[in-house]
Amino acid sequence: MAKKQFKAESKKLLDMMINSIYTHKEIFLREIISNSSDALDKLCYKSITEGAKGISREDLFIKVTVDKNMRTIKVSDNGIGMTAEELEKNLGTIAKSGSLDFKTENEKQDDIDIIGQFGVGFYSAFMVAEKVVVITKAFGSDKAYSWESNGADGYTITEAEKENCGTDIYIKLKEDTEDERYSDYLEVYMLRSLIKKYSDYIRYPIKMDIEKSRKIEKPDSEKPEFEKYIEEETINSMVPLWQRSKDEASEEDLNRFYKEKFFDAQDPALTIRADVEGAFSYKALLFIPSSTPMGYYTKEYRKGLELYSSGVMIMDSCEDLIPEHFRFVKGVVDSQDLSLNISREMLQHDRQLLAIRNNIEKKIKQELKKLLNNDPENYEKFWQSFGLQLKYGIVADYGAHRELLKDLILYYSSGEKKLVTLERYVETMPESQKYIYYACGETVNKIDNLPQTEQIKDKGYSILYMTDEVDEFVVNMLGETHGKQFKSINDKDLGIETDEEKGDIEMKQEENQVMLDYLRDSLDGKVISVRLSNKLKSHPVCLTTDGEVSLEMEKYFATIPGDHPDIKAQRVLEINPSHKAFYMLCDMWQLDKDRCAKLGKLLYNQALLIADISIENPAEFTDLFWDLI
Ligand code: ADP
Repeated sequence: MAKKQFKAESKKLLDMMINSIYTHKEIFLREIISNSSDALDKLCYKSITEGAKGISREDLFIKVTVDKNMRTIKVSDNGIGMTAEELEKNLGTIAKSGSLDFKTENEKQDDIDIIGQFGVGFYSAFMVAEKVVVITKAFGSDKAYSWESNGADGYTITEAEKENCGTDIYIKLKEDTEDERYSDYLEVYMLRSLIKKYSDYIRYPIKMDIEKSRKIEKPDSEKPEFEKYIEEETINSMVPLWQRSKDEASEEDLNRFYKEKFFDAQDPALTIRADVEGAFSYKALLFIPSSTPMGYYTKEYRKGLELYSSGVMIMDSCEDLIPEHFRFVKGVVDSQDLSLNISREMLQHDRQLLAIRNNIEKKIKQELKKLLNNDPENYEKFWQSFGLQLKYGIVADYGAHRELLKDLILYYSSGEKKLVTLERYVETMPESQKYIYYACGETVNKIDNLPQTEQIKDKGYSILYMTDEVDEFVVNMLGETHGKQFKSINDKDLGIETDEEKGDIEMKQEENQVMLDYLRDSLDGKVISVRLSNKLKSHPVCLTTDGEVSLEMEKYFATIPGDHPDIKAQRVLEINPSHKAFYMLCDMWQLDKDRCAKLGKLLYNQALLIADISIENPAEFTDLFWDLI
């Protein structure tokens, strides 16, 4: 058969692959073994779903053999094998993953544990191989095929001989160079340690022929004599990490497991183990990534945990096991109480899944709380990655999860100058403080400069600074917490002044009502009211709102496509009655009403700037300023 070229781009990709995707050449063995494990899983799955006869899970295995003379490593499996078309499709195109296709095709029935999905693992063999030969026979087929390639210039597929279904992969190692001793991979101890290191939890036996020696009993000889013999040994322990006791699974093991299984380069931020006995027994091994995965906050991100029943994978991404607000959690759940054909009878198992899900939810919350209490620094890192998700969780489903999540929320406190929990905020409130004050804005710095914050801070009260769009919805959803109500710093009544102070302002307001109304009218509908402020100290003006919609909400809705004419904040211009700007207004009111209106406009624009809202007509604003000076 004529040699075929790899499909377009494949060569380039292969080159890239060999030279750069993996930093450790030794992982080639893991990749090849994982493919074998996938092939065994696929066969197993077939036997369950199609009732294929003659397959018994106990008979499935992987075998690794070496031939030092030929410089080859052979990895065999008696899995599903490949037809000629599949060989062509799966190994002729790099980045084509038969395993991913298999998953997609079987999506409706829900899928099984397939490690591969990127379609590059196989080619990692070329990091160490000068030639790879694949001999394979598909399950149910009577023809076998051989695929052969030296990596660089294409491959050939020919008919071959093979008795049983499955795949043999021959990896012919490159010659040693000064930097690299490929021959090391021919040593049994080396392969054994690689299998232990990377593939110990593969759920099928990985066998090797191990040379051993034994004493030959010869009664008349003086020196004991030994003879060598070969014994087949299973190298991997096959017990999945989550089935092992804490002592048998080191942190390093767990981290490695996580990184390989979930394709993350970094160790997880948190590893959670659960071993629950009861009405629904299950074991879970869960991980929280140490940074936000790519595309996490998009629709493309798929949440879900891998679901096993007594060590056999049933679904590779079971969404029902994890609530939306913890969708960043990855991991596996194994329960012997689930029957194997759960994928076809999911409805019957809803109750079991729900029980496990509720349990897992509680466990995750507990562990996060522990992290928050014992290791605040790392909790903050977690918060940077997934805090937004928790906030969404509070708002979602009409607040159904707010009680669960509110202890996990952090906000920046102006008093402590760091992130604090709501509980901590309330605990450290001075006795005289009635409310939880909060302020929204783009950044902590910008909020800190808002004039409205001054008086509250002067009182010795802290303010929670909120910089996410969802924050105001969170506050609305919570309403109150730990016995205290939330209060925006823009609220008309901050609950700070004494009755006497209140009376004072009211009196001044009444005295100047005509001027204030005149200013409002001259602002041409931009504000619904101009009033004297009780919350300003050194600054002349600030912009606040009346009604439900705040300035931040208005900004938020303005970013959402579509017309939202109703969602406008009712702006209020507040003026500091002790500021010279106010005295100046009063003077002008007496002398020149036109100039008074101009000054009102100038002050309104200043209030916009302070509130971080762009002014409509900067040129006019500048002219006004020089006109008045
Ligand atoms: P991935 O495993 O990420 O899908 P690979 O490049 O490792 O990509 O493998 C490509 C495809 O070749 C696999 O998806 C699978 O369909 C097929 N394949 C590889 N090894 C075997 C095997 N031992 N038995 C059956 N099919 C295999």
